Amino acid sequence: MKRLAFNSLIALITTFGFTQVSAQPDLATQPIPKNVILIIGDGMDDHQITIARNYLKGAAGRLTLDNMAQRGVAQVLTVAENDPKKFVYVADSANSATAIATGQLTSRGRIATTAGDDNDLTSIIELASAANIKTGLVSNSSVTDATMAAFYAHINMRFCQSPASIEKTSDFGQMTIDCPQDLQANGGLGSIAEQLVASNLDLALGGGIKYFRPKVENQSMSVIELAEQLGFEVLTSTKQLQSAPLDKKWLGLFAPSDMPARLRGQDGRSAEEPQPDITHRALSSKGEVRMPEPMICEPNPKSKGLPHLKLMTDRALAHLSQDNRSGFFLMVESALIDKEAHDRRACGSIGGVEQLDEALDSALAFAQKNPNTLIIVTADHSQSAQIVPENSLFKGVGVPVYTPGKLVRLRTPENSLMAINYATNNFIKEEHTGANVPVFSNDAASLPSMLTQADLFHVIKNYLNIPNN
Ligand SMILES: [Zn+2]
Repeated sequence: MKRLAFNSLIALITTFGFTQVSAQPDLATQPIPKNVILIIGDGMDDHQITIARNYLKGAAGRLTLDNMAQRGVAQVLTVAENDPKKFVYVADSANSATAIATGQLTSRGRIATTAGDDNDLTSIIELASAANIKTGLVSNSSVTDATMAAFYAHINMRFCQSPASIEKTSDFGQMTIDCPQDLQANGGLGSIAEQLVASNLDLALGGGIKYFRPKVENQSMSVIELAEQLGFEVLTSTKQLQSAPLDKKWLGLFAPSDMPARLRGQDGRSAEEPQPDITHRALSSKGEVRMPEPMICEPNPKSKGLPHLKLMTDRALAHLSQDNRSGFFLMVESALIDKEAHDRRACGSIGGVEQLDEALDSALAFAQKNPNTLIIVTADHSQSAQIVPENSLFKGVGVPVYTPGKLVRLRTPENSLMAINYATNNFIKEEHTGANVPVFSNDAASLPSMLTQADLFHVIKNYLNIPNN
């Protein structure tokens, strides 16, 4: 909640005239504007990419991702809340998005604030808009969810999404969620939804309308009404998105919360536990174990009629590039790769990678016409799914050998079986894992082959020629 850096930065920018990079009368002498499109696959580690490639393109096939000029890795670094000098080896979306958005490490759950002392961290969105560069965020989660929020909000905990939820303190396992400390009445910036509509974003598209319906803190109007008063065109349908005026700010809220996944398991099935027979239950070296029936993926009827990530990306690119002489920063998140993996739904994650790949097609088509466009694709953290042998190498040793977790056996379009295992815990939700994440780019010169997530902030800032503060 403590705000130190940003106000002084704005003063500095104003003093040194950095805001003067916008429209000049002599267009011929102007440099071509530079743009950055950052695409984040939430939970999109190499396992998720491989699973999606196997299913969507075949084992020897290629996603658009695979044809990018540069492919490297980013280290995912997380620090402990009670001792920021100590590392935690598994991240959440809040701290990893904070690293990308601000260049600083923090602890799990935090949105652009420091671990321990709770100082606000200046984000690339704030720096860009102060330098007159347009900014936009797109996701198929709620627009108040952690990845997107880290780019525009500052709050001690990701769950304080609406004026209703910010009033509550709750105990969540080992974590205490103290939202009220960020109420405006307590010197904070208010809930994440209130911070979004107060931001300088040119557009934010995704789900999460339920977080904008409650009344603004100490006011009689809802957050939606405040958004409209502050100049946002509020969009709630695909049709409205397709025809929205390009000269207004956009707040797209296309679902109550996260948008539904595009694909689901056959008949709505998710991963299932192998079933030992009665003999094996009595004696672990004997008996047999029945594996889940193979399945295919099918369209999820709940996603029908909703805008897909590609459409939101196309519209965002049209909006941000319209009459723009000073460039833009756009972040696009494919959020459901992660959310579906938490629920052990392999097909949902596959559809999430597919949506990301389509959004990347749009970004690459834009970059072909607008050469000064850097595209970076990465993930925020690894996830639980892993491809395991459909037939264990140890089968036939005399004892039943099978996964201790839950399993999806997918029949791929090339008529082979892919076994996907989920086994990070015994809870109703799987957890993230701690491996490096991939980084792809259309410009091999702009990125080293190995960097940290915090380094990505500097790569983006340098590419956009945003001055140092
Ligand atoms: Zn997650």
